[in-house]
Amino acid sequence: MPELPEVETIVRDLRPILVGRRIVRARLSHDDVLRGITRSRLVRGLAGKTIRQLFRRAKHAVFDLGSERLIVQPGMTGSLTVERSPLTSDQLRYAVLRAELDGGDELVYTDVRRLGTILLLDPKHWELYDRAIGPEPLDENFSADQLGRALQRSRQAIKKVIMDQRHLAGVGNIYANEALFAAGIDPSKPARRLGPDDHRRLHSEIRRILSAAIRSNGTTFRDYRTGVGEPGNFQLELLVYGREGEPCRRCGTRLTGTHAIDARISVFCHHCQS
Ligand SMILES: [Zn+2]
Repeated sequence: MPELPEVETIVRDLRPILVGRRIVRARLSHDDVLRGITRSRLVRGLAGKTIRQLFRRAKHAVFDLGSERLIVQPGMTGSLTVERSPLTSDQLRYAVLRAELDGGDELVYTDVRRLGTILLLDPKHWELYDRAIGPEPLDENFSADQLGRALQRSRQAIKKVIMDQRHLAGVGNIYANEALFAAGIDPSKPARRLGPDDHRRLHSEIRRILSAAIRSNGTTFRDYRTGVGEPGNFQLELLVYGREGEPCRRCGTRLTGTHAIDARISVFCHHCQS
């Protein structure tokens, strides 16, 4: 699933194209992506609205439409682009949401497996939704102490805790693996057994890696594309994710891959992480 750097890249690409544009009409091909709203309410709610702002929160692209907010969380096979020419047959087949804009372009959310979600929230419900999500790791006010307080409350594996959106926004499996390797922390270690030094290292590595991934337009393993339809480049810089069985770049030990921590693949070095 696209994580913070991928959604941030999409939003940065689309913002200059979309802000100030009016949605003439919207179409939705399947309603299994909707949460808490019907197809007819969504389609009616989007028609005639102007996109006032577009920003990211956690792994969501948030379109501020004035009275309401359209929230798209792209799934593993999802992409969000603005199309200037008629859609290709593949795009037509997998387009889930199509919003026709003034001037003729189309904002299109395509999702082959429809694992993404779409919501439309009024300001009150947006506030509740936003409040349930943890701090943004790249926010300048997000501190190592704040991360430490969240970690000290949990007996769960550190990797699970930093991927839990209630504790920290936007980190998923790829960047959790990378940050724990860079910080030298075993992903299965109970969160509350980490000390202040661990908190400082992990805080700084999470921020460093997410920022570097944004500079590289995110990680493309298979499906992810930027807002202008290009693959990202951060896959070239990954040190552990996707490298199980290969030698550790730091010490040469063979990297371990396990599904025992959270059913997702965790890749780590026995020697460098403890
Ligand atoms: Zn190593």
